[in-house]
Amino acid sequence: MKIIQIAPEERLPNLLQDPERYGYPNLMVNLPRYRCPHCGGYTVFSVTEPNASPIPKRVRAQFDALTDRRSPYEQGVSDFLCRVCAVPVRVVYQINEFQIASYRYFAGAVFETAP
Ligand SMILES: [Zn+2]
Repeated sequence: MKIIQIAPEERLPNLLQDPERYGYPNLMVNLPRYRCPHCGGYTVFSVTEPNASPIPKRVRAQFDALTDRRSPYEQGVSDFLCRVCAVPVRVVYQINEFQIASYRYFAGAVFETAP
């Protein structure tokens, strides 16, 4: 299975693009959505309540090999399956504490299977 990296703005239609206000591009809203290139379906995923990855171990290992984890404390990943066709997806995001205990999440990369 071939894994490809896609720019977040290609797949996440409800990112906020206002880097002058927020410091970075691709601010994720509370319920970010992913648009699947395989089936066209939308999947809502969560960054604030991470759960166990639903992605099969073999594919997850491929995602892990491609995920830059140089600053793991400032970075998170959301693994999920497309709600419609169940292809595996990983969204990598940066965690930014902009006030004490207040966080913003900026999408950095999307990994998915090649069509
Ligand atoms: Zn799909």
